[in-house]
Amino acid sequence: MRLSRYFLPILRETPKEAEIVSHRLMLRAGMIRQEAAGIYAWLPLGLRVLNRVTDIIRAEQNRSGAVELLMPTIQSADLWRESGRYDAYGKEMLRIKDRHERDMLFGPTNEEMITAIFRSAVRSYKDLPKNLYHIQWKFRDEVRPRFGTMRSREFLMKDAYSFDLDQAGARHSYNKMFVAYLRTFARLGLKAIPMRAETGPIGGDLSHEFIILAQTGESEVFCDRAYLDFPTPEAATDFDDVAGLQATVDHWTSRYAATSEMHDAAAFAAVPAPEQMAARGIEVGHIFYFGTKYSEPMGAKVTGPDGQERPVHMGSYGIGPSRLVAAIIEAGHDEAGIVWPDAVAPFDVALLNLKVGDSATDAACAKLQGELEEAGLTVLYDDRDERPGGKFATADLIGLPWQVIVGPKGLAEGKVEVKRRATGARETVAPDAVPAYLR
Ligand code: ATP
Ligand code: MG
Ligand code: MG
Ligand code: MG
Repeated sequence: MRLSRYFLPILRETPKEAEIVSHRLMLRAGMIRQEAAGIYAWLPLGLRVLNRVTDIIRAEQNRSGAVELLMPTIQSADLWRESGRYDAYGKEMLRIKDRHERDMLFGPTNEEMITAIFRSAVRSYKDLPKNLYHIQWKFRDEVRPRFGTMRSREFLMKDAYSFDLDQAGARHSYNKMFVAYLRTFARLGLKAIPMRAETGPIGGDLSHEFIILAQTGESEVFCDRAYLDFPTPEAATDFDDVAGLQATVDHWTSRYAATSEMHDAAAFAAVPAPEQMAARGIEVGHIFYFGTKYSEPMGAKVTGPDGQERPVHMGSYGIGPSRLVAAIIEAGHDEAGIVWPDAVAPFDVALLNLKVGDSATDAACAKLQGELEEAGLTVLYDDRDERPGGKFATADLIGLPWQVIVGPKGLAEGKVEVKRRATGARETVAPDAVPAYLR
């Protein structure tokens, strides 16, 4: 992609309204634009990151055996009257009337709808277990939308819902998501710790929040430092191995880790002092087992092997991709701007032409762009007629993992410069050797 043809509205000034670094950087780097309080347009650069995040989430959901579908954003109030949550949900729910005066709402979550979909199609235990998920926009009329996409009113969520015949089956489904989440966050370059959590308005009795430690986090958390060095479950994990998955989950819950709502000061005091971490964190995922809370009132039943009908046991599993984009920046930035992990960077390489109009430099850049793309790398080619200083600043701000810097002086000596954004390390390389160097 040539930057001259792209849409990258960089802000020179630091926006005053942005209180935390990720919000400032997302605005400055032209990733998002606020359209109303807590409602954002995702501009091209931001959308590329959001898509890479959802690609990883989707791959790990699929690997664990979950099946993707897509439910609508607008729901009928009647569905929520069936579960009793239409009145209970309160002001966070955006309520809408259609032209026939029917009560509708913009979905804040989808337990009711997925339960209705399930009950219309599944009758027998032979069709279980099932885990259905979608990645869809949600709306919650947050009292205090703030921190950009970290706490917005309209936000993207991956929400999965599991259905099992009994509690033991539901526990296995829960464990699958637990392990899928560990893999997902690790692939996103994050250290997320599963912490015992309250279930909130969704209800139930088995729940973990996946928390990233960050000073700007809104949650107060307490945990054992040892978790930071726990190994991520492997890609080859067998998700049908009930005992194996349980062992992984047992390991990842063997030490102390709880959000403030579930904090047990006495148990925390038993953690060796140097291991204790009382910190702030960002909730990036949340998994619940809630049994028959929705299947019972909504009549989502299957016949068991004994021929008896019973309500299915359910769980729900959320991840916030739009919050994650901000959380990744909170975890990866420096004075000059964003430092993307390779796995989610909007482009792999910033190719900087230091002398646009110089025919040898232009030709070398065009050739390099072609070769890098041929090698499977995505390239943002800064072909604008601008001073080098401005190009360096833009490249640092938008944080692509590699910068390939091409100027007439270096070229005359058969060299270009390659800079690793994360470390600042620079290396001079022959132009032909760049694609191999970056791989
Ligand atoms: P919070 O405690 O931050 O309000 P929540 O507990 O209400 O979040 P869940 O209902 O557990 O959120 O939703 C699942 C996931 O959706 C959260 O873990 C988070 O990643 C994301 N999420 C929830 N609310 C927002 C929001 N207002 N903006 C962005 N992402 C959100
Ligand atoms: Mg909330
Ligand atoms: Mg929460
Ligand atoms: Mg939650």
